[in-house]
Amino acid sequence: MDFDTPLAEAWVRAIAAAVEKEQGRLTELDSAIGDGDHGSNLQRGFAAVLTALDGLPPAGPGAVLTKTGTTLISKVGGASGPLYGKAFRAIGAALPEPAGPAALAEALAAGLDAIRALGKAEPGDKTIVDAYTPAVAAFRTAATTGATLPEAAAAAANAADQGARATVPLQARKGRASYLGERSIGHQDPGATSTALIFRTLADITAS
Ligand code: ADP
Ligand code: MG
Repeated sequence: MDFDTPLAEAWVRAIAAAVEKEQGRLTELDSAIGDGDHGSNLQRGFAAVLTALDGLPPAGPGAVLTKTGTTLISKVGGASGPLYGKAFRAIGAALPEPAGPAALAEALAAGLDAIRALGKAEPGDKTIVDAYTPAVAAFRTAATTGATLPEAAAAAANAADQGARATVPLQARKGRASYLGERSIGHQDPGATSTALIFRTLADITAS
């Protein structure tokens, strides 16, 4: 299985559905250590992405993800909009058509690089990076050892879940949650949680 245009569209639509469904939980997490808008930020952003995709002329998987990123940047005001927006644009720019597991691994890694270039977060800062970093590592390891796309995506989703859960005992050093200092300890990071959701949807749509 390759990551082609229908799969790219299916991924983005599945993210929109997952964000819609998990909006409440994401907002709850952001209420504990932020300003309570992470769920609504992503819901608004991905709803706009669905509309943008409807108007997109037939194009490759890269164009689908680039359009997703551009739309998120223009529609989401919070920190997560530009971060996820730049990530999807970087993934889109790096994707050949169609992409096998190894090429998708490198494109996903380009997305992580974009997030780190913009947000300057290190692993352990209690951000998106804490779920995204292990996800890319797991995807890469799987892809370079001959795993199929569904296998690599499942490994990445599990690693992202684990990374998100591991943010609970961390103290936030970036973003709004860092203003809380030690009071940010004991809560799961909303952005790491939505990143785990994004990787889980990739596993789900490639498995079916
Ligand atoms: P805002 O913080 O502006 O309200 P959101 O609530 O949508 O934006 O997103 C908050 C999430 O953004 C955090 O949980 C964190 O994971 C992520 N985040 C914030 N700053 C950074 C950063 N510099 N690098 C990576 N992720 C970050
Ligand atoms: Mg917020």
